[in-house]
Amino acid sequence: MADADLLAEIAALRAELAAQQRTIPALPSENDGQAIRWQPWRQAPEILAHVDLACAQCAHPGPPLIAFGLVEERRPVIRYQASRCPACQEMTVYRRDHPKYGMPGTRLVEIAYHPPQTPPASTNEETNPHA
Ligand SMILES: [Zn+2]
Repeated sequence: MADADLLAEIAALRAELAAQQRTIPALPSENDGQAIRWQPWRQAPEILAHVDLACAQCAHPGPPLIAFGLVEERRPVIRYQASRCPACQEMTVYRRDHPKYGMPGTRLVEIAYHPPQTPPASTNEETNPHA
């Protein structure tokens, strides 16, 4: 392998590593003054990921990654959750509300959003001068 090829490969690997380090958005450490302790990101089980597992932003086939955030009440309780695309890093953070009245179940209230960090894969609008 020529030196130039090797240098190019090193540069590509460095860029890839920098992208990985840069692109994972930070999860909020607190909300409304309540400290949140996040569990590690994991692949979403299909039952939690709704019907379509693919990313609407970059067409990554999925599944998305999810993380649960615990707060200390009388005991640690899962009160927050976040979902993130492993490709474009679009991330949404939700508070899990449990209404005392009405329909049972968990209501997700969005508290933070990080837009995708890669352009959409399915359109060429930005490179098309006639768009
Ligand atoms: Zn995506």
